[in-house]
Amino acid sequence: MQGTMQDVPLLISRILVHGSTVHGRSTVTTWTDEGPVRRTYAETGARSAQLAHALRGLGVAEGDPVGTLMWNNGDHVEAYFAIPSMGAVLHTLNLRLPATQLAFIVNHAADRVIIASGTVLPLLAPLLPKLPSVEHVVVSGPGDRSVLAGAGSGVRVHEYEELIAGRPTAYEWPELDERAAAALCYTSGTTGDPKGVVYSHRSVYLHSMQVNMAQSMGLTDHDTSLVVVPQFHVNAWGLPHATFMTGVNLLMPDRFLQPAPLAEMIETERPTHAAAVPTIWQGLLTELTARPRDVSSLTQVTIGGAACPPALMEAFDALGMRVCHAWGMTETSPLGTVARPPAQARGAEEEWAYRVTQGRFPAGVEARLTGPDGERLPWDGKSAGELEVRGPWIAGAYYGGAGGEPQRPADKFSEDGWLRTGDVGLISPDGFLTLTDRAKDVVKSGGEWISSVALENELMAHPEVAEAAVIAVPDEKWGERPLATVVLKEGASAGLPELRAFLAGRIAKWQLPERWTVIESVPKTSVGKFDKKVLRARYAEGELDVTRLQ
Ligand code: AMP
Repeated sequence: MQGTMQDVPLLISRILVHGSTVHGRSTVTTWTDEGPVRRTYAETGARSAQLAHALRGLGVAEGDPVGTLMWNNGDHVEAYFAIPSMGAVLHTLNLRLPATQLAFIVNHAADRVIIASGTVLPLLAPLLPKLPSVEHVVVSGPGDRSVLAGAGSGVRVHEYEELIAGRPTAYEWPELDERAAAALCYTSGTTGDPKGVVYSHRSVYLHSMQVNMAQSMGLTDHDTSLVVVPQFHVNAWGLPHATFMTGVNLLMPDRFLQPAPLAEMIETERPTHAAAVPTIWQGLLTELTARPRDVSSLTQVTIGGAACPPALMEAFDALGMRVCHAWGMTETSPLGTVARPPAQARGAEEEWAYRVTQGRFPAGVEARLTGPDGERLPWDGKSAGELEVRGPWIAGAYYGGAGGEPQRPADKFSEDGWLRTGDVGLISPDGFLTLTDRAKDVVKSGGEWISSVALENELMAHPEVAEAAVIAVPDEKWGERPLATVVLKEGASAGLPELRAFLAGRIAKWQLPERWTVIESVPKTSVGKFDKKVLRARYAEGELDVTRLQ
């Protein structure tokens, strides 16, 4: 028997039309040099239609990728809706990537048009001669245009505002196949070339609904969300699309991502929610400690992208901001798990034990753990293995390039099609995930695994430690041992022996690092996570001044 329900495709254009009418008075606010600039959802809808007309005028057709090299701002939100709604593919470009990787990505996707923030033109201009597919650059917002003069012969440069001005404010959005490509995002490529994940309209739609679930971010039109997580980092965790379903006001920081302007934005614009990776929050915490502000509006903070140190959570709790830890990856759209304690948790201690996990799997994400010999491990809260997931917003392959077949490398996809996350962890019987490490970061010491994240979390609980990163280094006796690299807070007086003694009281003795070093800051990846690859290379080159403490 067939179901008798209507087969209406799940399209991003429907989210746009819904948001810009039903929630037409909700706002997208962009932080600028001259203060906040506000547009309503209704205006955003009209301008998205204008942008779609303009892109069609430049020859963009269904299935064409359109690159965006932009900060989080109102124009970028318009691109988020116009490009997929017209049937083209939104290709967000990470403006913090090294130039060679950025060129690889644009060439692999064969972008014909790039919309770029004016302030990132100095990055784009020298690259243009190496981007043969690019025919048009559309420049948005402030920034010196002259840097483009002479860069890339044959590339036509347009002003965003001039290009959309006077165009019709409505667009007959095509009735697309919901499985068609909507957005393309490349992984940050910690090993090998970046790999492209192609989200479909259907996956974005379903993921947006998940973001909006009460057990997920659960925001409504009463909320304002400060979207610090970049729009080029897994579609800003799905927020711009999800918020247009529910009318959440968006507060976009543009390029003002330093702790001081973020604190000012929170004080003056009074967002209720914010989302970012832990390193951003660490910086904001230092700022708020040095120069207290009224941040009382901000009651919910989503932290993900890397393990959130419990000490950071505690510090934010003390400021009245409740941190909600979440896990995901480019391949998972990204929302996988969100750590909201279950109803059965009794008392603060039990709640806390749930909050510091990576979170609970929603109905749309199936999970399993695989042991070193390929065996399935139980959800018993004890057995640690590699996490594999599947679901309607989980990647089943990587983009194979124009005309190429989708790629399913065996280290990324199981034979039966599940995504192999490369994350190692355990799952409780009630579906809460605790990650112990990335498979490649775990310290394999004499047949036992030491979680680098667990050591980092304990070290960062020391009041004088600003940041700590632990890497595996070769050891003659044990194969590998942990090296603790520590960043001390300004004016700290603690020495390494004291930190070692502090750690000794908190972890098993055999896990205690013998090798220690103080560094100025932990190197970060293009999306603000600890870059342990760089630390490993520095160690291998003998650049770290390592002290041995027994
Ligand atoms: P990306 O695709 O660049 O967002 O990276 C995804 C990876 O970030 C995951 O596979 C995890 O290793 C890591 N990650 C994301 N969220 C968390 C979290 N809450 N705790 C620990 N690791 C995380």
